[in-house]
Amino acid sequence: MTLEKIPAEFDFAAALLTWFDTHGRKDLPWQQDKSPYRVWLSEIMLQQTQVTTVISYFEAFVAQFPTVESLAAAPLDDVLLRWAGLGYYARARNLHKAAQVIIQLGYFPNTLPELLALSGIGKSTAGAILSIAFQQSQPILDGNVKRVLARFYAVSGWTGLREIETKLWAMSEKITPIERCDDYTQAIMDLGATLCTRSKPRCHDCPMSKACVAFLTQTVANYPSPKPAKKSPVKPIIFLVIRNEQQQVWLEQRPLKGIWGGLWSLPEVETLENVQIWCDERYLTIQNQQFLATQRHTFSHYHLDYTPLMLDVHSAATVNFHTRQQVQNRALPAPINTLLSQLTEDFL
Ligand code: SF4
Repeated sequence: MTLEKIPAEFDFAAALLTWFDTHGRKDLPWQQDKSPYRVWLSEIMLQQTQVTTVISYFEAFVAQFPTVESLAAAPLDDVLLRWAGLGYYARARNLHKAAQVIIQLGYFPNTLPELLALSGIGKSTAGAILSIAFQQSQPILDGNVKRVLARFYAVSGWTGLREIETKLWAMSEKITPIERCDDYTQAIMDLGATLCTRSKPRCHDCPMSKACVAFLTQTVANYPSPKPAKKSPVKPIIFLVIRNEQQQVWLEQRPLKGIWGGLWSLPEVETLENVQIWCDERYLTIQNQQFLATQRHTFSHYHLDYTPLMLDVHSAATVNFHTRQQVQNRALPAPINTLLSQLTEDFL
């Protein structure tokens, strides 16, 4: 079945809105006060993260930073600490940077070009902010919507390809309604999250099933096309867990650019030979050392295989050494947080 075979009278937006009125989610924290700031924050948090995880992070974040002004004025370290655990920290750094730009502008941008000029806001996020917070008719195309449209129109090809994405954007624009676009945006995201899910979509409960090409041709499992397989490279490193005689551990802040930018982490070296050099350069005298089992942390584009090396050192200096309490007040990458929490009992 092709696009032309979809019943001409089928109104995608109307069917979706009717379903949303009865079944859509309306009690999520960011749906209560749809200010541009809250909508923006929720959209950023929801990228790569499930709603159920986001809820508590969202509530804690707005409790600490209730306005754009408070976010812009906060030290980046505080923002990263509040974000810790959500992952993809570039999102937090971009939020902070964009909040400062918004304060300089003196208003919250309400046009597509202005929003796209802010750090961390792409076309779909901008569309969601404009439709939900400003009631403008603007399409979106997040991961959920891509999946719904790829199935509804039976679009072959990995949705990450520019050509396929362009096609899906055109479809999204075509079906986005002029009226009630805020509800429509919420509705299509809900449809993807609750019915047209990645695995086991509930087509028999779906308001789109009358016209969904994948469903009508019994080819739902074929859409969206999977990402072409590519083997992720493995990067092995050694994390140095350095403890001084006062039971304090060495942490250092990572550069803003690169993985875990701006977070506090353990020093890392690539080879065992570099351990001694690293310590000598910092006047640390190694007294004991012990390896722990290697663990894997997977990023979107590679695996990090890290081996913790516990080092008891003598050091005259105290810079960089943190007490247990100070460690708890630092924004740490999730695997480092887990590692140090496991060690805390007998190590710190
Ligand atoms: S009918 Fe099934 S495949 Fe089609 S949009 Fe609904 S849930 Fe998705």
